[in-house]
Amino acid sequence: MHYSDLVTVYEALEATSKRLEKTHVLSEFLQTVPENELEKVILLLRGRAFPPWDKRTLGFSSKLAVKAVAVASGESEKTVTESWKKEGDLGKVAVLLVGKKKQATLVSQDLTVREVFETLQKLPGMEGLGSTDRKTKTIAALLGHATGNGAMFLLRTVLETLRVGVADGTLRDAITWAYLQPQINYNMEKNDIEFADDSSREDYNKLTEAVQKAYDRCNDFSHVAVTAKEGGTAALGKIALELGTPIRVMLAQREATVEAGMARVGAPAALEYKYDGFRMQVHKDGSKVTIFTRRLENVTMQFPDVVDAVKAHVTAKTCLLDCEAVGYDAATGKYTAFQQISQRIRRKYDIDKLKKKLPIELNVFDILYLEGEELLDMPFSERRKKLEKTVKNVPKAIVCSSYIVTDSVAEGEKFYKAALAAGNEGVMCKALDGLYKPGSRVGHMVKVKPVLDTMDLVVVAAEWGEGKRSGWLTSFTVACKGDEGDFLTIGKVGTGLKELEQEDGVTFNQVTELLKPHLLSEDGRDVVVKPQIVFELAFEEIQASPSYESGYALRFPRVLRVRDDRDPEEITTLEEVRVAYEHQRGR
Ligand code: AMP
Repeated sequence: MHYSDLVTVYEALEATSKRLEKTHVLSEFLQTVPENELEKVILLLRGRAFPPWDKRTLGFSSKLAVKAVAVASGESEKTVTESWKKEGDLGKVAVLLVGKKKQATLVSQDLTVREVFETLQKLPGMEGLGSTDRKTKTIAALLGHATGNGAMFLLRTVLETLRVGVADGTLRDAITWAYLQPQINYNMEKNDIEFADDSSREDYNKLTEAVQKAYDRCNDFSHVAVTAKEGGTAALGKIALELGTPIRVMLAQREATVEAGMARVGAPAALEYKYDGFRMQVHKDGSKVTIFTRRLENVTMQFPDVVDAVKAHVTAKTCLLDCEAVGYDAATGKYTAFQQISQRIRRKYDIDKLKKKLPIELNVFDILYLEGEELLDMPFSERRKKLEKTVKNVPKAIVCSSYIVTDSVAEGEKFYKAALAAGNEGVMCKALDGLYKPGSRVGHMVKVKPVLDTMDLVVVAAEWGEGKRSGWLTSFTVACKGDEGDFLTIGKVGTGLKELEQEDGVTFNQVTELLKPHLLSEDGRDVVVKPQIVFELAFEEIQASPSYESGYALRFPRVLRVRDDRDPEEITTLEEVRVAYEHQRGR
């Protein structure tokens, strides 16, 4: 398959924001993709060279991209940079300059999808002396062979900034349309699906659910697509959860009060402490224990103490546990705040020393697999019973989360106060009949924590400082996550960062170094950055404001820390901002 076929699809996807139209474009295209290319195509459609759980990154900065465009076009880096400033998009510059050279030299051989994919996969392995040069030349060679707008999409893929709006739900539906022959009629003019009758609607829902369930279990759309194409729903139904392969975690929505949280999930509700630690997904497969973070990174090596606790106190031979790891002070036994233990996630040496200094208690709140049986579709209250039978409570090692079931708001509020007094963040309200929906932010699990405390926001732009702050990025535009998964600006912040390394907290210099590889464009002192670095901010108040895309602004925002455990996908949502805003106004 030619890369230009994929480029045509990128263009069609970019040309519309309508989800059904995107689904239609994708499903038509998927039907033309040969089976042995499906895996590559599905990853490339989402701008990736590796599946989501594979943490390898291409490591290609915009500086390298400028070099690659210069090599491919035969222009100087200065010309490329100037042209970038003028056009505002390095991808467009690549099309323009490389295209000009090609006209002169008449290169006509088109790139293939395989070539692009295999080349991208080689990038992370290029390390050591001369690797920058090799990387640049490799990408320049691809750019030189791209036709049409190919160079632009290629460059965006290399920079990991390709966003043509293929969300999970869209891809799921496109796979259904392409391979499972649903009895539907997509009316392009009305942008609507038409069903012959109610039963065909139900049949259609069953098909999308089959695709969704398969994806929830294997976490890999390429595998799902190939299976759907080869064996239809019967084969999809055989895709099972596998110990050792992480699944996406279920996320919570937010309410401002216990009363609202309990009303949302329905009475009687389960309430649990909301621990201030970090999420751990623990797989036990006989004597093999594997630990993943909420970003699905394998961190087993960093937590031998957790592995030991699971081996010693989890009675099941095989199971999958959803947990929060909480740090405590070895001397006083008191819970410590998240930042204390966050260093354990990254540390690859002196692990034994660190585990003594920063010990951890594993609070287990869910069980998704037990002795060969998947529990995702079992009601929460039943999962909880199984959990209590599986985990022996050994305080300061591993325990089941603190848990009550009640229909009394007064009792719920008492539990909330006790949770806060014990140093927790708040409580989680959970519906007793809730199923486990990997990757979804569900309304049947709702967090309640004091509002107006903090937000996790991603940096999307910044300004170079002046005077004694020159050389540092100083003022940061931050964004929350919109309803469509897009990033919407909500304010600017510069306060909270320190100038001197000796001071406690994060410095301008550190944040500048973190952001530098993600610069996308520069205009004078203003820079646009790839949404990658997440700040936790405190603020005085949320205001309605037309100045920012979210419709809200933060008064007196202050950076508390960099949340390097957090994906940009997992930041504060617009819905959460709305809830906090309305609560603050007493509505
Ligand atoms: P937030 O990070 O504010 O979106 O809140 C959701 C997170 O709370 C989850 O991802 C877990 O890491 C954490 N958490 C702490 N205690 C619990 C609990 N009892 N049940 C579920 N999640 C919990």
